Order: sequence, then structure tokens, then C-alpha cells
Amino acid sequence: MQMLVLGAGQLARMMALVATPLDIHIRAYDVVSEQVLHPVTGERYEQTLEQAIAASDRITAEFEHVPADVLALCEQSGKFFPGKKAIECGGDRAKEKALLDGAGVPSAPYVLVTERAHFDSAIEELGLPLVIKTCQAGYDGKGQWRLKATDQTDGIWQEMQAFLDKDAAHSIICEKMIPFDREVSVIGARDAQGNVKVYPVTENEHTDGVLTLSVAGIVNQDIQDQAVDAYHKVAKALDYVGVLAIEFFDVGGDLLVNEIAPRVHNSGHWTQQGAFCCQFENHVRAVAGLPLGSTDLQQPSAMINVLGQEAIPQQVLATNDVRSHWYGKKVKPGRKMGHINVSATTLHDLGKRLDELREFLSEQAYPGIEARAKQLM
Ligand code: ATP
Ligand code: MG
Ligand code: MG
Repeated sequence: MQMLVLGAGQLARMMALVATPLDIHIRAYDVVSEQVLHPVTGERYEQTLEQAIAASDRITAEFEHVPADVLALCEQSGKFFPGKKAIECGGDRAKEKALLDGAGVPSAPYVLVTERAHFDSAIEELGLPLVIKTCQAGYDGKGQWRLKATDQTDGIWQEMQAFLDKDAAHSIICEKMIPFDREVSVIGARDAQGNVKVYPVTENEHTDGVLTLSVAGIVNQDIQDQAVDAYHKVAKALDYVGVLAIEFFDVGGDLLVNEIAPRVHNSGHWTQQGAFCCQFENHVRAVAGLPLGSTDLQQPSAMINVLGQEAIPQQVLATNDVRSHWYGKKVKPGRKMGHINVSATTLHDLGKRLDELREFLSEQAYPGIEARAKQLM
């Protein structure tokens, strides 16, 4: 089977690495260079998007910011999963909120803004502090403002207005800043028959808006149940096929959705060694029409993102149950270059493994490991 992935980054690459044993062959379409590429080797194919669509049995996406014309062509083919609506909901926070509200899934209170009067009512209705996000762009915390005090209002509005002025279709969302205890996410897969399998909820730490550390196997059953309930509601509302991720705020034991991602997700990378069938394989299976694999936790696991580093320190591989995943991208400050997965038979031992890794992974470049290790040990 031939599968085309929209986007040619590390997520397409990791899909391709698990698709081969299933006899599924992946090509990636880079929407920026408009080239069809091999997602692992980077080899270029002399193919237009139209030709690649025609030559593929199935089409999927590794990200949600897909240009509308590309999305329309893929949808027309009838081979595209999870399909246009799901990708659009992930790529536009206004559509995402409408979806969540319609599915009866609680999320952060919000006001949509396209003009100054809306901004003023947002401040009045929601109160400060506010998290302000562009609806149609943004990932890794980019395209956001924090309004903490009223004297920042005019300055931030000027920047918001510049974004709104760029395109008549642009909008901005103001959200109440949620005083969360922690951030968690759930990753799951749904097949074309509506069967759903969900992984154990992951606890996530962000540094400057970017995910730095995930741990799986530590939330209680009540949190898991709330996440699974939200997952079923959202996946059903989208008639979803593939892997879908939902990020939540845990506020005193109650989950509030932050956002959804209609794709495999950074907080699910631990499944490459903590679960029998990883998120990449389950996504490929669902899109290809194959049965889903087990999402049960095999071992408590953690994932450490490698941001802006030239390489993963080789010594980490000398630690038991540690594997490295490199993306082969050009290094840039703060860029996601790879990740490290760590597992152990108990949470206590996982803490010990993380503690051992501190010798090779500095707190500055890999924040949060020390505190997490201490907590688990
Ligand atoms: P991603 O790379 O996950 O797609 P993103 O750019 O879409 O990131 P969000 O997940 O919406 O951004 O926000 C980034 C981070 O900012 C969140 O993980 C959370 O830490 C913080 N944040 C976002 N919205 C709120 C909110 N309403 N209240 C408190 N913190 C928030
Ligand atoms: Mg996002
Ligand atoms: Mg997010």
C-alpha cells in the first residue's frame, strides 16, 4: 500500500519507520517546498501533488496547518483520513472551540476577537490574566500573548491588530488563564468502524511553551476515565479515523481541554517503547484500514525532548531501557531535534533512571528531569 503524508517532518518520518514492516510505503508532501519526498532519506520524487494523490491508496497529515487548496484536493480524492474537517478543527481555534462546545466537552472559557470592542468585552467577561492566541496559526506556544495587567492592553492590542490586518479570515481567541495543577494529554486511535483504543494519560511539562518532558503511567483512574470520556466524545463528533491527541489542564482533579491535535503528538512519543503498538503504528493502521494494536502500558515511561542540540549525548544509550530518536533536521536554537525515551518496570525505577541520566543531560538544556526524578523515587 502507498500512503501520502501531508508534511515532511519528524512525525511523517516516524510513521514511515513503522509502516515499512506493515508493507506500507510512505511518501511525504512538504507543503512549504511543494515537493514530494521520502520522509526518512529526504530523497525527492519527480511528482506533483496531484500525481502523488493519484498514486496513493491513502492520504493523511502530520500537522494541522495545511493550505486550504491542498486540503481540498486531498478531500476530493476520498482517500484522506482523518479528513478535512478534523484537520481544520485542529488548525483553527475558533472551529476547535465550536467542536468542543458541541460535543459537550469542557474547555477554558473564551471570547473570539476580530475587533477592539470584542477585546474589551473579553477583558471584562473573563478578567485578567488572559492567554491570547491567534486562531489560525501557532504551535509550540508561538502566536500567543499573555495579558496580565491593564497597562499592557494597548500594546498587546497593536500586535493583535497587526495579525488581524494580515488576512480578513484571521481571528484571535482570548482565554481565561487557567490556574492548573498540571498538564496532561491523552492519545488514542479510532478506526473506520468506530473502534477506539486509548493510551494511558501522559503528564507533560512545558518550558517556554514547548514540551520538554512527558511521563506515562502516573495518573489515577479518575483522570484516565475523564480523559477517555472526552476522547470518545471528540473522536465521535469528528467521525475520526487515525490517531488524535487531546491536551488538558488538570484543575483540582477536573480536566479542562486545552486543545486538540488531529494527528500523532509529541506527548505520545513514549509509546514507542512504553506500549505494545506505538502511536505512529496505530495511526498508520487506522488510516490503512488495518486493525488497531494494543495501547496498554507495558512499562512506565518518560520522554525527554532534545531541543536545539547538535546531537543526543551517546552516553545516554549506556543507561538501561533508554533509546534515542533523532530527526535529522538542521540545528536551530530551541528546535525539536530528537527525543529520548526512558522506561522501567516501576515508577520508582523510572525515577532512578531519570536521575542517572542527569549526568549527561544538563538541567539547562533538558529542564525538569531532576525534579521529576526526585518525585518518582
Ligand atoms: P502545541 O505545540 O502544543 O500545539 P500551541 O502553540 O498550540 O502548542 P497551546 O497548547 O495552546 O499552544 O499553549 C501552549 C502552552 O501555554 C500550554 O501547554 C499551557 O502551558 C499554556 N496555556 C495555553 N492556554 C492556556 C490557558 N488558557 N491557561 C493557562 N495556560 C495556558
Ligand atoms: Mg497546538
Ligand atoms: Mg498545545
